[in-house]
Amino acid sequence: MKKIYLDNGATTPVDKNIMKAMIPYFSKIYGNAMSLHSFGEDAKRVLDGSRNKIAEFFGSDASEIIFTSGATESNNLAIKGFIKAYLRKNKQIPHIITSAFEHHCILDSIKSLEREKIIEASYVKPGKDGIISTGNILKSIKSNTVLVSIMYVNNEIGTEQPISEIGKKIKKVNPEIIFHTDATQAVNYFNCNVDHLNVDMLSMSAHKIYGPKGIGMLYVRKGVAIDRIQDGGDHEFGKRAGTQNIPGIVGLAAALSEIKKEKTKVKNNEIINLRNYLIDGILKEIPGTILNGSKKLRSPNNANFIFSNVEGESLILLLNKEGIAASTGSACSSGTLEPSHVLLSIGLPPEKAHGSLRLTLGRHTTKKEIEISIRKIRKSVSALRKISGDVLTEYYKDNKKRK
Ligand code: PMP
Repeated sequence: MKKIYLDNGATTPVDKNIMKAMIPYFSKIYGNAMSLHSFGEDAKRVLDGSRNKIAEFFGSDASEIIFTSGATESNNLAIKGFIKAYLRKNKQIPHIITSAFEHHCILDSIKSLEREKIIEASYVKPGKDGIISTGNILKSIKSNTVLVSIMYVNNEIGTEQPISEIGKKIKKVNPEIIFHTDATQAVNYFNCNVDHLNVDMLSMSAHKIYGPKGIGMLYVRKGVAIDRIQDGGDHEFGKRAGTQNIPGIVGLAAALSEIKKEKTKVKNNEIINLRNYLIDGILKEIPGTILNGSKKLRSPNNANFIFSNVEGESLILLLNKEGIAASTGSACSSGTLEPSHVLLSIGLPPEKAHGSLRLTLGRHTTKKEIEISIRKIRKSVSALRKISGDVLTEYYKDNKKRK
């Protein structure tokens, strides 16, 4: 059985061109970019060249790009590094605004600062369609608000947030407020020019865009003070200690240059068509199904469904047996199944927030794969509904007997 990968939101395979670009930097040009000899100089040249290309993609200056190990670290650095620098100069408790459906690396970073009692935070809920209203962000602004962090594309339901508008409007209320976006799920498909987005900080990871794992970056606009959160050497303008991952950085630059190519834009349109075919097929063929999040304002590769009377993890396991790799928002931690915080935030009750299926398409997805997937999802959903139907029938029978 040929396996079908529909979990490109979790990670993507490294593109052949990108791998080829990285290979010389493992054992041919392998110096430490901080070393003073020629090996170091060669590595430094590559580091600077890649930084320039990456800066160009985001419309920024090279000195505003800080390499990290990925979006988790970039988000931690953006939130904690900014607050650390702020508290060094100010006595007032700062206030952060974020959304209730951010990735856990944002939510947990903010919650850890709250637990330390060094910040206050507001968590703005998205609407039922999975879109944050700019008005609700503006309403949450207080006199001590210093930072707003809103994700560009939600990783679970794929909805696109009005980042450019939020950035513009918060600056009108108070130009001192710093605006950060987690663009990890957006870079493949949406305009990430930092001036277009009106952002001061932006995070991303290479492995979501057909680049390698373990490399990402944080853009920090000139004049925005952040302190480093890990100690060591003076790498990355003193903002992130640790020897630079040159093959990874070359891979990140190569991944971004693939995105700019015309053939990638054509491919992205094909992905939209396939995704729409998938959504229409599932909604038509499986009764009791809903699509989570706006159909219009969503990432080209994302489809997220709830099937009534179906539990998400069971569906993932059954689909895995059928050779389909997908994901769900609910997470099994220490034996208790947590409902998805994203689905709860858009107003779904906990029993429904357990039952989601996320399918994320990629550059390699074919129409044939989508056709097979629709068939296998329909089969798996009916098998699970039959089991849950049988369990419920037994339960009611038992209860009747007891009465
Ligand atoms: N933010 C978002 C929106 C994500 O989707 C992810 C990855 N699932 C991350 C942050 C974290 O990225 P990484 O695992 O590469 O650090």
